[in-house]
Amino acid sequence: PPTLRFAPSPTGYLHLGGLRTALFNHLLARKLGGKWLLRIEDTDQTRYVEGAVESLLRTLKWAGLDFDEGPGKDGGNGPYFQSQRKEIYDAHLQPLIDQGRAYHCFCTPERLAETRKLLQKRGDNSTYDRRCLGLGEEEVKSKLERGEKSVVRFKSSSEGLTQQDLIYSSIHYPSLPIEDFVLRKSDGLPTYHFANVVDDSRMGVDVVLRGEEWLPSTPKHLALYRALSLPPPSFGHMPLLINPDGSKLSKRAGDVRVEDYIAKGYEPEALLNFVALLGWSPQGGGGGASAEAGGAEKQLQGQETDVLSLEEMVEQFSLPAINKNRSTLSPTKLLFLNRAHLQRKLAEGADAEKRRELSERCARVVGESFGVGNVEEGTLEAGYVGRVLEALKERIHTINDVPNLGASFFLPPNLDSPSAKQLYKSVKPEAYRSSLTSSFEIIASLPEEAFASPTHEAILDPLNELVKTRGKGPKEVMAPLRHGLTGVKVGAGVPATIAVLGRERTVARLKEALR
Ligand code: GLU
Repeated sequence: PPTLRFAPSPTGYLHLGGLRTALFNHLLARKLGGKWLLRIEDTDQTRYVEGAVESLLRTLKWAGLDFDEGPGKDGGNGPYFQSQRKEIYDAHLQPLIDQGRAYHCFCTPERLAETRKLLQKRGDNSTYDRRCLGLGEEEVKSKLERGEKSVVRFKSSSEGLTQQDLIYSSIHYPSLPIEDFVLRKSDGLPTYHFANVVDDSRMGVDVVLRGEEWLPSTPKHLALYRALSLPPPSFGHMPLLINPDGSKLSKRAGDVRVEDYIAKGYEPEALLNFVALLGWSPQGGGGGASAEAGGAEKQLQGQETDVLSLEEMVEQFSLPAINKNRSTLSPTKLLFLNRAHLQRKLAEGADAEKRRELSERCARVVGESFGVGNVEEGTLEAGYVGRVLEALKERIHTINDVPNLGASFFLPPNLDSPSAKQLYKSVKPEAYRSSLTSSFEIIASLPEEAFASPTHEAILDPLNELVKTRGKGPKEVMAPLRHGLTGVKVGAGVPATIAVLGRERTVARLKEALR
C-alpha cells in the first residue's frame, strides 16, 4: 500500500485548491489501504505567515481529514516541519558536492541580476552563467573559511526527459536551458526543491499527488532523484481550479480561503464534496457527467448523484476518473451540495452526534446574529434548534440562513412591521378575530403528542376542519395564524411552526395578537 503526503507551505491560509490536494491524497490513501502524512514545508522564512500552521491544522480537523502521521502524530518519520530537519538535508547535500553534482556559488544578488540581463540580451534563457562552477577547490575552501556568503547550486543537465504522470499520462519535457537552481540558500536552509525531494524519499512517500502548478518543478525533482541515486515516487498532477469567469483561482483572493467558507456556515461534508467534484467525477471516466446531454449545465448546478459523504467518496474514488480539464468553481453547486448534506444530517435515523453538533453550531450563529440576551428563553437549546432546522430544511442552503428565514422561532413577531401589516390586511378584520379565536381554542386544547409528531398531522387536521366549517378557503385560517405567530409571509409552514414553537409559545403569541 502506498504512502502519500500533503505538504503545504505556511505562506498563507489553506485555500480550496489546497483542501482538494489534501482530500485527494486522503481518498487515494484510504482507497488503497495506504497512509498519508502531513509535512509542513516551512523553509522559506521570508514568506512565513504567522498563525498559518495553526489555521491549517484547525481546518483539516474541521474537514475531518485525519492524517496518519504529522505534527502531533508521530509515525517515525518526523520531525514533520522542514525547518527542524536541517541536518538531514545537509547530510544529503554533501555527497552531491563531493561528487561534483552540486557546487558553492558566491555570486552576489547584484551580479546575478546583471548576469541574467546579459544572458537574456544574448537570447540565452539560462538563469546563471556558471561562473562559480569554475572555482578551484582551494579557492572555495578559503572563501568558506573567510565566511563569505554562499548558496549551493545543482549542476543541472539540459537533457529533455519524459515523465509518466498518473493523471496526464506521458509528459515530455524538451531539452531545457541550463538552470543551476539553488539547493541550499545562504541562510543554510534548503530550497523547496531539495527539501521536498529529500523528504519524500526519507519519509517513504511513493505517490505524490499535487496541483498542476508544480508540474514545472517535476523535471528538477526527477533530476535530483537521479543525482541522489534515489528512486523517484510516482507523480500525479491535478488540473488547476478556475473561477467562473475563467480566471485563475488565487490564494490572495479572499474568498477562496477555507476559513472563509467555514465562516459562511458551510458544512464540512459539503465543502469536501464540492472540492472533490472539482476535477473528479464519481460517474467515472474523466468527467462522465459532462458527456450526457445537458451535462455541463448539470455539472454546474449539481445533481442527486453528486451528493457523497467522505466514506462514499473513498469507496468510489479512482485516479482514472480525475478530469484533465481545468475545473470551474460553481457557487450554485456548492449551495446545492450544502443543502443536501444539511438534509442528510437532519434525516430520520441520521447520526445523532452529527445532528447535535449541527444544532449547537446553528445555535451559536443565531445567538451571534440576534444577541443571546434578546432571544426567547430556551430557544438556543440544541434540541429546539434541531427542530427549527428540520422545519426549515427545504428552505435553507446554509445554517447562516436560519436567522433570516427562521427569526420568528427565536424572537417574538414584530406586528408593527410592514410585512405583518400586509398579512393582517389580507383577511377582513371580523374574519381575522373570529378565525384566530377558533384556531387559538383548537391549539390550546391539543394533546401534548400533537406538537411532537414529525408529520404535524395532529395539528393540521383540526385546522383543516376549521377551514371546512368556515367555508372561505385555507387563507382565512392560515393568514391570521401566520400573522400572529411570525408576522412574516415567508418561512416554515404554519403547522410546522406551531409544532416547533410548542403550545406555550404559540398560545402566548396568539393571545398577544388577539389583544
Ligand atoms: N510546499 C508545496 C506547496 O506549498 C508542496 C508542493 C508539492 O506537493 O510538492 O504546495
